[in-house]
Amino acid sequence: MPVEEIRRSSTAQRKRVSVHSHVRGLGVAADAGELFPGGGAASGGGRREAPACGLVGQEGARAAAALLVDLIRSKKMAGRAVLLSGPPCTGKTAIALAVALELGRRVPFCPMQASEVYSSEVKKTEVLTEHFRRAIGLRIKEVKEVYEGEVTELAAEESALPDAASGYARSIARIVVTLRTTKGTKTLRLDPSIHEAIMRERVECGDVIYMEAVSGAVKRVGRCDAYATEYDLEADEYVPLPKGDVRKRREVVQDVTLHDLDAANARPLQTSSQDTDVLALVNQLGRPRKTEITDKLRDEVNKAVEKYIEQGVAEVVPGVLFIDEVHMLDMECFAFLNRALESNLAPIVIFSTNRGVCRVRGTDMSSPHGIPMDLLDRCLIIRTVPYTLEQTRQILWLRTQAERVTLEAAREGGDEAAADDADALQMLAVLAQRTSLRYACNLLAPAAMLARAAGRDTVGSGDVREANALFLDARASAQRVTEQAQGYIA
Ligand code: ATP
Repeated sequence: MPVEEIRRSSTAQRKRVSVHSHVRGLGVAADAGELFPGGGAASGGGRREAPACGLVGQEGARAAAALLVDLIRSKKMAGRAVLLSGPPCTGKTAIALAVALELGRRVPFCPMQASEVYSSEVKKTEVLTEHFRRAIGLRIKEVKEVYEGEVTELAAEESALPDAASGYARSIARIVVTLRTTKGTKTLRLDPSIHEAIMRERVECGDVIYMEAVSGAVKRVGRCDAYATEYDLEADEYVPLPKGDVRKRREVVQDVTLHDLDAANARPLQTSSQDTDVLALVNQLGRPRKTEITDKLRDEVNKAVEKYIEQGVAEVVPGVLFIDEVHMLDMECFAFLNRALESNLAPIVIFSTNRGVCRVRGTDMSSPHGIPMDLLDRCLIIRTVPYTLEQTRQILWLRTQAERVTLEAAREGGDEAAADDADALQMLAVLAQRTSLRYACNLLAPAAMLARAAGRDTVGSGDVREANALFLDARASAQRVTEQAQGYIA
């Protein structure tokens, strides 16, 4: 049977191991806020039974975060925000990501560093507005003519890492779909740009997928049962699709964010957004443009969106806006946030800080976490605590799995408490406690490279020691510049 390839220009995405790629969820049982077995308990020295959710310890914070997920789901968080407060590297970002993952893989998660608001070109409130709109999803339903086919071949790339959000292999090497037509069957090999969508949809061999075609090329794909799973229809409401014909009209669902729509419509629309249909608004996506997004344009997009919501064509999916280092924001930003939280189109805002009492930027007053009291008053505050050595060891073990680094096993009878004579994992854990967890995580890749250069596949304590001798952790670097101040330019 001839295999036909559908081409579309695409640039291969660079694969990057995210620092939180091991995090899959909160690992808290839905009923009683109870941690799942293995969800943080030290097991086998943190070696063999890493918790499936990817989070270790922080039981209190995780239980509170699970309750937060319930509050968000039952729409009881309007006008409020969340503050994750705790010492550096205690998993505040990891927990915020886990909250987003628990809310569903189609819920937008938009992380930002508070210092991003300081730019010479863009106003602070403009940066915040854009991030707010990136964190508000819109699920748009359209009826389209689509092709349907069964996935008959699906090969993941061997080196592919699981995607943090979906847990699915990040990269697919080959995907072949068999279309049933009235004239028999036809085989299509899809190109890599489609692979990304297939990966997100967690399509497996044997699944039936729909393909939306534009000018003879597949533009978008999705699972045929997505409608049922996305909208939680009762089984008896789910109508199986008839098989046999090539083209079908079916409702397809597209997830976009308000910012996507702003950016896509930043050039004047062909017709005013009042009388254009949802397709025209969405079809602007993917057209490259460089135009400033104005408040007027946002208002127009909002009006169009409100109309689609009224018509039942679109549904708002509030996502999570995570603002790290919130103490870096100033009074103007805090005033903006107080107002923005009141809006009906507001995402769930999660702040994070590792600061105690400090000055609120742009004022002379001090406040806990550098946040004005009126905003702090709106926050549900979740506290994270430092890790024990055993928990640190478990987290580092999870990172070795995510980064595919194999550590040498502990020597029989070795004194694990003494860093010099310990196995590589124990040495990293001790180092993490002395310096920081992030520094120890950062040493994994260089240590693996040193091992490879020496012709070994496994990383030993010698490699960790060597990597540690080559680099400085933040505290050691700070001490050095203080001690040798005269050698640096002030
Ligand atoms: P900071 O205050 O410096 O911003 P943070 O509290 O946000 O730090 P993270 O960035 O979440 O800390 O954690 C540092 C690293 O350790 C990340 O790779 C993170 O995924 C991992 N990590 C932290 N806590 C946990 C945990 N409880 N379970 C698994 N991994 C964790």
